[in-house]
Amino acid sequence: TRRVQEAVAAWQPPLRLPVQLSERSYEVVIGEGLLARAGALLAPVLPARRVAIVTDETVGPLHLPALRQGLAEAGFAIAAECTVPPGEASKQLPVVQRLLEEMLGAGVDRRTAILALGGGVVGDLAGFAAAIALRGLPFVQLPTTLLAQVDSSVGGKTGVNLPLGKNLVGAFHQPRIVLADTGTLATLPVRELRAGYAEVAKHGLLSGEALWHWCEAEGEALVGGDPAALAHAVLESCRLKAAVVAADEREESPEGGRALLNLGHTFGHALEAECGYGGELLHGEAVAVGLGLAAALSARLGECSQELPGRVISHLAACGLPARLRDLGREFSAAALLGRMRKDKKARDGALRFVLLRGPGEAFTAGDVSPALVEALLRDEGC
Ligand code: NAD
Ligand code: MG
Repeated sequence: TRRVQEAVAAWQPPLRLPVQLSERSYEVVIGEGLLARAGALLAPVLPARRVAIVTDETVGPLHLPALRQGLAEAGFAIAAECTVPPGEASKQLPVVQRLLEEMLGAGVDRRTAILALGGGVVGDLAGFAAAIALRGLPFVQLPTTLLAQVDSSVGGKTGVNLPLGKNLVGAFHQPRIVLADTGTLATLPVRELRAGYAEVAKHGLLSGEALWHWCEAEGEALVGGDPAALAHAVLESCRLKAAVVAADEREESPEGGRALLNLGHTFGHALEAECGYGGELLHGEAVAVGLGLAAALSARLGECSQELPGRVISHLAACGLPARLRDLGREFSAAALLGRMRKDKKARDGALRFVLLRGPGEAFTAGDVSPALVEALLRDEGC
C-alpha cells in the first residue's frame, strides 16, 4: 500500500494542449499512464466505442496490454489488431493494402476509429490507411517514440514511401486526439530517444531563447530519461508545432510557416539519403548534424553570431548526438551532398533552399544560398 500511496502522491494530471485548425480542433494529451486510461480519454471524441489498432512487432508486446486494458475498462470493442514489422520498410503501399484488407475484412466501418500505437512509421502508415479507408475514418495517434511525441503525431501529415523517394504518397488527415503517454518512452532504446531529442533541440532553436536555454539546461537529463524533462519537452514541442501548423495547415506558405520546421533538414535529408535508410544513420542523428551545419552556414553568411554554431554543436554532442560531419565516422562527397540538396523535395528549380537562423527564435528561409559557399563549408567540415 505504501507504493500505491507514493504512486498516488506522485501522480500528475495529464497536460492538455489544444491544436486549433480551421476544420476541426483537437487536443494533445501528455502524461504517464495514458494508454491504461485510453478508453475514458477517447470516448468523448470518437463516434463509437469500436476501434482497430495498428502497431509494430516491437511496440505491440510492450504496450498493447495497457492499451487493451484501458479500452476494455470503458467498454470499447477491438475490431482488429494489425501488426507490421518494425522499421521504415513498413511504410510502403503493399503494407497499406494489407492493412486495409485486414481492417475492412474484420468489419471496420465508418464509425470505427483507427488507433496508431507506435513511432512515426506506424503513425504515418496507419494515418494514411485511415485517410483512405472508406474515404476517411476517425484516427487517433498513440505515439510511443520521442520523435513521434514531439513531431510526427501533430500536424496531420500521413503517408508512405515509394522506391523513388520518401513520403511521396500521402494525405493530410488530422487525428481526433493525440495521447502522448510519456511512460512508454521508458522502453525506448536510448539511441532512439537521443534521435528524437534532435527535433526537440530544433524546436528550441525555432521557438526562442526560453526553450533553447531550457534545452541547454535540461537536455542531458532528458536523454537520461528524466520523466519531468520528457513531459516538458513534449508539451513545448507540441505547442510550437501546433502553432506553426495552425498558421499553415497545408504547408502553403513558401517562406515561413511549416517550411521553418525544416531547420537542419536540407543537410539532414542529404546525409540520410547518402547513408541509405537501413538504420546506419537515424533521421534525428542526421538532423542533429544538419542543425550544426545550418548554424555554421548562418554564421558564415553573417546572419547569426559567430558563437551560435559552437553552442549548438556542443549542446547536441553533450546529449550524445553526432553534431558534426566527422562524428559520423564515414566520408561524404561534397558534390554528392550538394546534388542531393538540389533535388530535395522542397528545392525549387535546383536552387538550394535552407532554413537559416539569426538567433534562437529567428529562423527564416533563404532560397538563394550560393552553392560555392555551401561547398566550402562542407569541405571545411571534412568532406
Ligand atoms: P519508428 O516508428 O521506426 O520507431 C523507431 C523504433 O523504435 C522502431 O524499431 C520501433 O519498433 C521502436 N519503438 C517505438 N516505440 C517504442 C517503445 N516505446 N519502446 C521500444 N521500442 C519502441 O521511427 P520514429 O523515429 O518514431 O519515426 C520515424 C518516421 O516518422 C519516419 O518514417 C518519418 O518519415 C516519420 N515522420 C513523420 C512526420 C509527420 O509529420 N508525419 C514527421 C517526422 C517524421
Ligand atoms: Mg524531422
